[in-house]
Amino acid sequence: MHEALASYYSSIRNGKVPVAEGVLAAFSDAFDEEMGKEPVVLVDEGQTAGDLKDEGVKLVEAFLRDVKPPDRVFSVESAFACDVVTPETGEILEEQLVGYLDAVVEDAGKLVVLEHKTAARAWSADQLEYDLQVSLYAAVTGADLVRLQVLTKTRVAKMLVHDLVRTEKAQVEAVSVVCQVLKAIRAGAFWHSRGWQCKECECRALCTA
Ligand code: SF4
Repeated sequence: MHEALASYYSSIRNGKVPVAEGVLAAFSDAFDEEMGKEPVVLVDEGQTAGDLKDEGVKLVEAFLRDVKPPDRVFSVESAFACDVVTPETGEILEEQLVGYLDAVVEDAGKLVVLEHKTAARAWSADQLEYDLQVSLYAAVTGADLVRLQVLTKTRVAKMLVHDLVRTEKAQVEAVSVVCQVLKAIRAGAFWHSRGWQCKECECRALCTA
């Protein structure tokens, strides 16, 4: 999905009008490539790879139908790495905060970070208000807002768009959470957090031993 959306925003960044066929082809190529690689992509019981691909095509079509092109695209899939500074003491930790921004754009005179998600249902008000990743993106980039574009797998697929603004207090709180978690890890705290991420976790062998 990210490959498809990246191709859409890359076209705009390169001064071209995105073409639906090109965006759908980017999805199809990326899907086929990923399905042929290790680790194996698991599908739900009773579902085939073809079903999964059809579901993905519907989400890309929903994106193309619902998206509002931004005025400018500054970057697509750009990596960032920045220091983690403890809010209470100003101490710079040895770890860095790293990630990728789906796209950074200008829209109606505002600097906007775009973040895409796929979801089975609409995000709740609490998720939208407190999501840690959104708060950290706001803190890292200083953007006016983070635009969350949620491709929702309802009966008729649709894209729900949320323009989220985080106060300075919320941004500081998010960085503080990161610092507290790092502190807990250094102190030896560990608990199993089973989920989709386990399939690709480098600690899997140790964790399941
Ligand atoms: S396999 Fe990795 S992600 Fe899953 S519980 Fe263990 S450490 Fe956590």
